[in-house]
Amino acid sequence: MINDLKQIARDWPGEVVVIRRDDLTDSWIFVALHSSVLGTPVGGTRMKIYSEPEAGLRDALRLAEGMTYKWSSIGLDKGGGKAVLALSRPLDEAERLHLLQRYADLVESMDGAFGTGEDLGTTPSDMAILAERCRFIHGARTDGQVTDPGPFTAEGVFHGIRAACEVVLARKELADSTVLIQGVGDVGEPLARRLAKSGVHLLLNDLEADRAASLAAELGAEVVTTENLYETECDLFAPCAVGGILDQETIPRLRCRIVAGSANNQLATLEDGERLHDRGIVYAPDYVINAGGALAFGLPVDAARSDADAPQALMDRMAEIGDLVRAVLEESRRLDLPPSTIAQRRAERRVDAARAAKASPTPPPPETEA
Ligand code: NAD
Repeated sequence: MINDLKQIARDWPGEVVVIRRDDLTDSWIFVALHSSVLGTPVGGTRMKIYSEPEAGLRDALRLAEGMTYKWSSIGLDKGGGKAVLALSRPLDEAERLHLLQRYADLVESMDGAFGTGEDLGTTPSDMAILAERCRFIHGARTDGQVTDPGPFTAEGVFHGIRAACEVVLARKELADSTVLIQGVGDVGEPLARRLAKSGVHLLLNDLEADRAASLAAELGAEVVTTENLYETECDLFAPCAVGGILDQETIPRLRCRIVAGSANNQLATLEDGERLHDRGIVYAPDYVINAGGALAFGLPVDAARSDADAPQALMDRMAEIGDLVRAVLEESRRLDLPPSTIAQRRAERRVDAARAAKASPTPPPPETEA
């Protein structure tokens, strides 16, 4: 098996892949550093059950590449990286602690070559456990607590949704629009609350049906079952759960005008971006619309690290995500190209420019004599 994993890593165009096996929990740890051209690789840590470790490694590699594009899209000087703790089964509390501590020691041993934070399947408390043994946890505060990126990401997605509705539906206000959210977890739940306040007609879906039902009851929303999800008519579908859900099987079933949500790697393949475009469904590229958490933690003045609650000033900056989404969608419309293609071109342009600048550094100014 390790040979298969090594081969997958060798075929990848990124910079570094670290692979560790944890026998006690029957898990694998994968850390993928895609690019350090713009800066030190930083990206979340995902914990998830995979049918086979190869799927976990592939997830890490693709997510790390997405992080390169995400940092580039929001104009911050950080590189693309991601970690996956690939489980074969659910872990009990002691096993989870053991795996997190082993992973924390691994990241600490990388001595700053990789920084990380929360992602799908990990929580602020997990990050606090990592921060006890590792200096490179983003969002860790001086009081030992860890700031949750979810509300920032949700606020960014909210602004992205507003921008998409403005460009595609020519609606300045969201009231009376119908939005279907898949996954009401750390991002989906605050997003649902924000949309409900704006008078949106909300449809909620979650693999954990009770979670969707109780939030729907509180917000006056409707629940959509997983069987009917893709066929459900709505203005906008917001995937906020897992990746790889938009493919040749699901795209023909969609009955929405826009797809705009937080999940990473929503497109199963790049061709699925074209498939959506051909169907006239406008896709807000994942790494642009879901960059709010990254923006909050990556800003030079890291206000999220203060002991106070996340300051409103930082939340206000999430409106920038709306501007980025709007720019991508308007360019897509102008050039009649899928938004996924436009976003990738824009992100690659900045990375290429940084690579070229590194290859031919500006010569130092000539020394002058006093
Ligand atoms: P989470 O684990 O807190 O919540 C995910 C929710 O989706 C859970 O309620 C879960 O039950 C549900 N779910 C899982 N699989 C599902 C399925 N197949 N169908 C319906 N529901 C399903 O995760 P999160 O932090 O809210 O992240 C959601 C997505 O957004 C992930 O893809 C993550 O990578 C991405 N993302 C998150 C952040 C962040 O700040 N947390 C930032 C950028 C991107």
